[in-house]
Amino acid sequence: MITKPGSQVQEKYNQLSNYKEGNSVKIIVCVKQVPDTAATMTVDNGAISWGDAPLIINPWDEFAVEAALNLVADQGGEIIALCLGKEGETEAIKHALAMGADSAVMVSDPALEGADNVAASKVLAAAIQKIGEADLVLFGQQSVDTDTGLLPVQTARLLKWPSLTLVSKFESVNPGDGKIQVLRSMEEAGQIVDSSLPAVVSVTKDYGEPRYPSFMGIRKASKAEYPVWSLADLGIETPSSSIAWPEVTEPVQKEIVTEIIEGETPEEKAKSLVEKLIAEKVL
Ligand SMILES: Cc1cc2nc3c(=O)[nH]c(=O)nc-3n(C[C@H](O)[C@H](O)[C@H](O)COP(=O)(O)OP(=O)(O)OC[C@H]3O[C@@H](n4cnc5c(N)ncnc54)[C@H](O)[C@@H]3O)c2cc1C
Repeated sequence: MITKPGSQVQEKYNQLSNYKEGNSVKIIVCVKQVPDTAATMTVDNGAISWGDAPLIINPWDEFAVEAALNLVADQGGEIIALCLGKEGETEAIKHALAMGADSAVMVSDPALEGADNVAASKVLAAAIQKIGEADLVLFGQQSVDTDTGLLPVQTARLLKWPSLTLVSKFESVNPGDGKIQVLRSMEEAGQIVDSSLPAVVSVTKDYGEPRYPSFMGIRKASKAEYPVWSLADLGIETPSSSIAWPEVTEPVQKEIVTEIIEGETPEEKAKSLVEKLIAEKVL
């Protein structure tokens, strides 16, 4: 079959030929909505406020969407974006769809107001099970707002699936054999890890730059329809939260004093700098 590279027919053919090899991969990507990273956070009456900042996809999650898109481009399959949030907050899902995710599911229920990580992971695990038959669940490394980095491992534990954190490269993903090999990026070293599928993976920004959504992608995403599941749809009770935020305070403001080191020559300036550092007991 001769088709233009990248054409829909070619893509479908690639998917089908990979499917025969048992390599097609079903991926759920968890995406969160967060306030724009340029927004200023303030504390009002002991509670966090981001003012009227627009919501965006958690920037770390774009790397996870990018990884999913590349895996499916290589070996066929489908990508479902999954978001837990307030109904009507659609930015994370729309961004994932505009990048190229095939479909999306939103989970939203007023009873989840104030839900902590344990509660959030129970809801995500239930949604992942309801979507069903995923080979991989991808997460970003952490959220830029509440920033615990706990959700991937908590969700993996509830699903009883292996949890592979800080992944920067997918060496191989073989749903047919139920095997995955990834590269974990740590500060001092890389670590090749073998595991079984299905698995939960958190993707680091070392994976590589996420693509910008295309104009066509944005148009398609703006018209996309997707289900919004409540806790009742998931068949679970309101999960209890055991962590509270009794008070939130402003970060301690650090006073920074800047001093320009004067001197006629570079040597003089260096000598003066060293003397000051010794006097301050830095050296
Ligand atoms: C006492 C308490 C009250 C809270 N009240 C609220 C509240 O009222 N409203 C509120 O929005 N948050 C609230 N939170 C925060 C909320 O529980 C966390 O945002 C959520 O559990 C995810 O944790 P995290 O942001 O640290 O994500 P991390 O674990 O840092 O995120 C890692 C990855 O998990 C995925 N992920 C994170 N959150 C979601 C999501 N919602 N949907 C899909 N994927 C996700 C993303 O891929 C992300 O990159 C509260 C937390 C506590 C402890």
